[in-house]
Amino acid sequence: MPSPIDTSPEGFRELAEEALRIIEDFYTQLPHTPVMPVTSAQAVRDLLAEALPDRPSEASGVLAAVRDIVYPLSRHNGHPRFFGYVASPGTAAAAIGDLLAGALNANVTSWRSAPAAAQMEHVVIGWLKQITGFHPQGVGLLVSGGSMANFSALAAARTKVDPLAGRRGAGNGPTLRIYASTEVHFSIPKGARLLGIGSDNVVLIPTNADFRINLIELERQIQADRDAGLQPMCIVANAGAVNTGAFDPLPEIAAIAERHRLWLHVDGAYGGFSALAPSTKPLFAGMDRADSLSLDPHKWLYSSVGCGCVLYRDPHPAIATFSHDADYTRPVGLANDEAFAFWDLGPELSRPFRALPLWLQIKLYGAHSLAAAIEQNMACARYFADLVTEAPDFELLALVGLSIFNFRYTPPNYTGDLDQLNEQILLALQRGGSSYLSNTRIRGTFALRGCVLNYRTTEADMRRLLGDVREAASYCFLRAG
Ligand SMILES: *Cc1c(COP(=O)(O)O)cnc(C)c1O
Repeated sequence: MPSPIDTSPEGFRELAEEALRIIEDFYTQLPHTPVMPVTSAQAVRDLLAEALPDRPSEASGVLAAVRDIVYPLSRHNGHPRFFGYVASPGTAAAAIGDLLAGALNANVTSWRSAPAAAQMEHVVIGWLKQITGFHPQGVGLLVSGGSMANFSALAAARTKVDPLAGRRGAGNGPTLRIYASTEVHFSIPKGARLLGIGSDNVVLIPTNADFRINLIELERQIQADRDAGLQPMCIVANAGAVNTGAFDPLPEIAAIAERHRLWLHVDGAYGGFSALAPSTKPLFAGMDRADSLSLDPHKWLYSSVGCGCVLYRDPHPAIATFSHDADYTRPVGLANDEAFAFWDLGPELSRPFRALPLWLQIKLYGAHSLAAAIEQNMACARYFADLVTEAPDFELLALVGLSIFNFRYTPPNYTGDLDQLNEQILLALQRGGSSYLSNTRIRGTFALRGCVLNYRTTEADMRRLLGDVREAASYCFLRAG
């Protein structure tokens, strides 16, 4: 009996060759397409809505929809002048890695489920430890992203401080407290909320002028909480804060954590791979003293979205948090390395083969080239800050942290509301399609915020960005009459 699904080699070849042609054209066109399409939810819905397809379709027709609708009607994070948020451009190597992993379709729950894939993940985790200077004895796994990495680390930290919390449930134990600077990413309070610790128990410590955590205030707050009968649990250090790129001083924070016997978690989701760059490597001194570290290969290692990483110095709190014994997963007749299960270290059971795209990319490009690209991204951010500082109609709102810059347009003699003006400029810039920035507030002031995270970006793109912002501004003035 033939399969109801086409499994013919010809069918596969036709599909694959057409898909590769589309991808090749996409890469060629990428620098010349609008960063952001001008469209609406209704327009996209009208193009995609259709009744459940009942019969097989021609591959060429289906793929044409990807080429003509899906690709153009997307924001292009790989465009050399996409500077919004903290977004990976992706790489050709990782895209092909995704294709190869998808064909194998391993379910990387454990060694037994996928011996080579599990081992490859161990290899990649070893590389990430080496890059960041994490404790060599540490263990870790790939997760869906930085939010899940932060969640996993907080869960393990809670077990260390309050071993029964996971079984007893929230509410009946000590009030646990987490300390982080006001610059902390929202995934930390979100994780505290999901774990039942409560986001109100994430104590936001003020920062110094450089947006790094105020150490005196940190230690004072820990002591005050202890005196009040609360249970300090962990300190979260920013290794590259998402607003400003601020990098908290790790050796000093590690000393405070050790003095008060607190878990030290480092959030390196954005900045973690700047450890590759010689100019920022010194910031990572003391990383081996961290209890856990979050990384996002899908940010500054340029890899495909869906790849975060959590590292633990000591596996035991993580195992006590995540392991479970169920008859339907218990490995029979396996021991040691072959009984290894990723579900003992993180929240997921079924897991995609995340290591393959990353492994392929690191092998193909090499750490040296990735380091050079990261160094170049930071140089582009500093170059842009220089352009802003020299320009009479712009103001830099914070010093560049890693590859993040914050600035605003300040035309001479302007008496209107600068926050409002810059908000309009941002919208006009994004609609223009040549460059893309996002926004934040710096000490209450509306800021145009950019993050250079793309190996395609050059100094010429930074000059073009400044010109694009000026053009957006003149458009706003024109409209205002
Ligand atoms: C992006 C980011 C996160 C969240 O990571 P996701 O991969 O988006 O879940 C956490 N912390 C920092 C500092 C980040 O930049």
